[in-house]
Amino acid sequence: MAEVLRGKPVVDAMKEDLTKRVEALKARGITPKLGIIRVGARPDDLFYEGGAKKTCDSIGLAWQVFEYPQDVSQEEFEKAVKAVGDDKEVNGILMFAPLPKHLDEKKIRNLIPVEKDVDCMSLASAGKVFADEATGFPPCTPTACMDILKFYNVPLKGKKVVVLGRSLVVGKPVAMLLLREHATVTICHSRTENLPAVCADAEILVAAVGKAKMVDASYVRPGQVVIDVGINADPDNPGKYCGDVDYASVEPIVAKITPVPGGVGSVTTMVLCKQTIMACEMQNA
Ligand code: NDP
Repeated sequence: MAEVLRGKPVVDAMKEDLTKRVEALKARGITPKLGIIRVGARPDDLFYEGGAKKTCDSIGLAWQVFEYPQDVSQEEFEKAVKAVGDDKEVNGILMFAPLPKHLDEKKIRNLIPVEKDVDCMSLASAGKVFADEATGFPPCTPTACMDILKFYNVPLKGKKVVVLGRSLVVGKPVAMLLLREHATVTICHSRTENLPAVCADAEILVAAVGKAKMVDASYVRPGQVVIDVGINADPDNPGKYCGDVDYASVEPIVAKITPVPGGVGSVTTMVLCKQTIMACEMQNA
């Protein structure tokens, strides 16, 4: 039986720390605020937004939603994003992506000021993450993976870690954060040969592949730590979701594993709040 690395204790510990930091800022007359930029009303975005607002409320962090119609023009939206960027009361910005196809998303992402870019939308922020600069915020999900590993005291220094997935939002940044902690990191993707064997060779496996239950018993070995980033519709349970790991076959083999739901995803919105508070502290240092 594996040790289950649940998100809740991680979130509870962060909540205690962050509530104190918000109180300290408020005592100085500063109310940290998250600005949420949303175009249209995609159910996934609304679901994440609802969770983010609830998490902000739970630690006393203010929030404001900046909502734009699905057919907002490039010019109008650019102006709006710049205005949120210039808004002195907004310390951190979350912008939902992908944006509608008629908008130039690359250009718009880069309008978010680095010091407020708490989910790493811009290339400047990504560059800072890759250069180990503390003034650049990594995306929230990779940070949540790191916070879970740290909370459960999983040693990283010198360890063989395989990251399955090379997206800019999860795979690449989590690899950089692991490297920062002196892990020996291999990044795998759809062209990797002998994928199950490469994954099974790892001491820590981070699955961020976006394929429901793809990582089965052939990808793991006893003693491994498995971090499952996936959020997929569960093909076996309509209306439910599951990870990239086939939990039922993997959990009996490995040493430690994050569940889905209740693992990485459950820590992500608290990380968004943490990075907004960090942004506010840095802006008011
Ligand atoms: P992407 O689709 O952007 O990237 C998936 C990566 O997996 C790509 O690098 C792709 O390789 C690789 N891949 C796809 N199929 C295979 C395969 N059969 N074998 C090997 N590699 C493969 O996904 P994201 O990185 O955005 O998300 C990954 C997962 O994490 C998803 O389930 C997503 O829902 C979840 N997620 C969870 C979050 C959370 O808060 N918990 C937040 C964000 C995402 P290639 O580059 O070669 O195409």
